[in-house]
Amino acid sequence: MVSNLQARDAATVLHPYSNLATLPSQGSLILERGEGVFVYDVDGKPYIEGMAGLWCNGLGHGREELVEAAAEQMRRLPFAHLFTGKSHDPAIALAEKLKELAPMKAAKVFFCNSGSEANDTQVKLVWYVNNALGRPQKKKIISRIKAYHGVTVASASLTGLPNNHIDFDLPLPQVRHAGCPHHYRFAAPGETEEDFATRLAAELDALIEAEGPETVAAFIAEPIMGAGGVIVPPATYFEKIQPVLEKHDVMLIADEVICGFGRLGEWFGSTALGMKPDTVSVAKQLSSSYLPIAGVIIPDWIDEALTSQSAKIGTFGHGYTYSGHPVAAAVALKTLEIYEREDILGHVRRITPHFQARLKALGEHPLIGEARGMGLIGAVEIVADKASKRLFDPKTGMGTKIVGLAQEEGLIVRAIGDGIAVCPPMVITEAEIDALFDRLGRALDRAEEWATGAGAR
Ligand code: PMP
Repeated sequence: MVSNLQARDAATVLHPYSNLATLPSQGSLILERGEGVFVYDVDGKPYIEGMAGLWCNGLGHGREELVEAAAEQMRRLPFAHLFTGKSHDPAIALAEKLKELAPMKAAKVFFCNSGSEANDTQVKLVWYVNNALGRPQKKKIISRIKAYHGVTVASASLTGLPNNHIDFDLPLPQVRHAGCPHHYRFAAPGETEEDFATRLAAELDALIEAEGPETVAAFIAEPIMGAGGVIVPPATYFEKIQPVLEKHDVMLIADEVICGFGRLGEWFGSTALGMKPDTVSVAKQLSSSYLPIAGVIIPDWIDEALTSQSAKIGTFGHGYTYSGHPVAAAVALKTLEIYEREDILGHVRRITPHFQARLKALGEHPLIGEARGMGLIGAVEIVADKASKRLFDPKTGMGTKIVGLAQEEGLIVRAIGDGIAVCPPMVITEAEIDALFDRLGRALDRAEEWATGAGAR
């Protein structure tokens, strides 16, 4: 039985990224408040927020300092913009801070409101800059199967997941998808991680050759693929991919929307994974998601190309009303200050071995084919048969079932196809990690009982 509030929700809210057919009868989980790593639903039931919302709420709930930073900025200057020769100090200070932290030599920051807008901006900059540099044929962008880069027209094209393309008439014709670096699923029998990485790099090389290197402009990658299933690339992957990109003069865009700001114990996932990006997209944990803000960090050569184009044609015709919104920028600045003052990155590094040990231990569970992760992010892959890695029939809805059981146990996790993702607030303690995995373990046991009883294998 759905509650009155759930019925009102289903009748009025068109839910993003949801099964619109089943949601009305299941009813949304309606949350009311949060404290630390816990959120509470409208009936007062607490849940461990095992996904930090959407991989974004790094500091957890209830940070009064962030509330104060927003209130103070709202009182002083609630809105100002960056168009047509205007600016304001929160945007300037935040751009300076991001330049200082960036995983490459950065020149400037372009602000936007979401990860999708950041990656859309990346695509537009690639096209614009290559026109400005007099190589208008160099426009194609290579992403990867199972990548997630957002849902606006260009970002959804970069995303390598079928539901973001089917019936949306996407991807755009300038986008290609290279192989997915998931060893467990896509390596040949007996192929080591290193050999798999070598093969993926050779396949990328062949793809660029086939397209014509003069037509390929950029390669975009998340350090660890998030919404595609928390896929940690095989050992030596970026080490082998990057020389291929260099050989063909293809720039590397790092999508740091999930990995940025501490998730892997470094400011950027690029540093943890050995990526040397030309440009970087940031969002989510930049403000711990207390307010929406995102950005694209660019190097000198892009800045110079943009500026010289402006010298010829005038206005750089790209920007959002809320680019660098002063309240969001003030909250982001305060968030970065807290990350530094409380040594959140150090905390992530200290707590990671415990988190990963509890995660990897789930690999022993009869339902789990692979338990994978790095830093404070991970996933378990559900299989009907461990030896053959055979998946459950999609009709069983195993992922959704486990999410529901976890919710009953007081834990929020996310089903991604046949995986269950975990990505808690970075401030999580060892005891809370134990509680998280105890609850997930109980949900898996109950799912296993159900699968056996229902003959779902
Ligand atoms: N890139 C990555 C790596 C993401 O995980 C996401 C969101 N999950 C996006 C881009 C898109 O961000 P948004 O939902 O803020 O548009």
